[in-house]
Amino acid sequence: RALSGLFVVLVAAACGDHSGGDVRTTATPRPVVGVILPDDETSSRWTEQDSPKLAQALRFAGVEPLIQDADNDEATFTRIADDMIGRQVDVLMTTPLSPAGGAAVEAKAEAAGIPVINYDRLSLGGHADYLVTFDNVDVGELQAEGLLNCLGDAPGARIIELQGSPTDNNATLFRDGQRRRLGPLYDNGTLTLVESHAVAGWAVEEAKAAFTRILDAHGGRVDGVVAANDGLAGAAIEVLRDRGLAGGRVPVTGQDATLDGLRAILRGDQCMTVFKPIRDEAEAAARLAAALAKGDVSGADDLATGNTHDVASDRDVKSVLLGADLVTRDTVRRLVTSENAVKAEDLCTDD
Ligand code: BGC
Repeated sequence: RALSGLFVVLVAAACGDHSGGDVRTTATPRPVVGVILPDDETSSRWTEQDSPKLAQALRFAGVEPLIQDADNDEATFTRIADDMIGRQVDVLMTTPLSPAGGAAVEAKAEAAGIPVINYDRLSLGGHADYLVTFDNVDVGELQAEGLLNCLGDAPGARIIELQGSPTDNNATLFRDGQRRRLGPLYDNGTLTLVESHAVAGWAVEEAKAAFTRILDAHGGRVDGVVAANDGLAGAAIEVLRDRGLAGGRVPVTGQDATLDGLRAILRGDQCMTVFKPIRDEAEAAARLAAALAKGDVSGADDLATGNTHDVASDRDVKSVLLGADLVTRDTVRRLVTSENAVKAEDLCTDD
């Protein structure tokens, strides 16, 4: 009997049964990672993909997600950030709407000792400790390549560009990448740049109005459209459709491989999109955040092996930079099968 009593005590000690003594009824709270995503309108990626994938990846990495959406509004972005900093989240992850707004929040987080990860967009001139994003210049090059493939041999083709928000550093990088391929062709007259318009806040309604104005000013003539994402592509396609120019008569580029973008490709209205594996982006950001939340800075540094030069502050930001893929009508299927990124039943609806 004495032996079996000893056995019970040993098992209890090994398995953490302290029922005879100081019982801990509540588990230690998990570190909290505050995430501010930009909006749910300029690209359906943020709500369809980033938000659920980040929530899942952060929980898997052992931290508690607190994810909010800034509604594409600077004051809302700042209010959410102030609230998260006030409640001392362990890490702050932001997708800033503008360099100034992002930098102001990052300065406050820094003063409160909270590490900041820029998720997808860099705050130029800001104070973020890390950046997780894609090779966005390459994204722009893929858009140019897709457009050129769809245009084929079309000497002097007239091109209208709908670029992303002038306050989003990614929009600048996409444009830089496009221009690597298209710039020399504009210069030697192989293509004609009719007008390049930067759409404030990536707003679809503004894109429609601008595209209509540009078309009207040039006798309704256009042969190709560089649209910086699927949302802007949708705006251009709507205007083209009203003028009987949809269905691929005028190739339109895109980005994000949203359901709307992919459906437009299958219908023949959109020439291409860019697939960015957001699951990988969310997982990389979550691993980084979990390391920082535990104070493991060298572990975080081991994960962020890339560097992004911030031209505004002339500093290098430790980065995770992921690759992206060109998607055309011939390759959409791959996203459903091998990438498992889209469900066939979501894509193949009647509308
Ligand atoms: C993202 C794009 C997105 C755009 C508009 C950019 O910063 O990289 O994927 O389409 O913002 O939301």
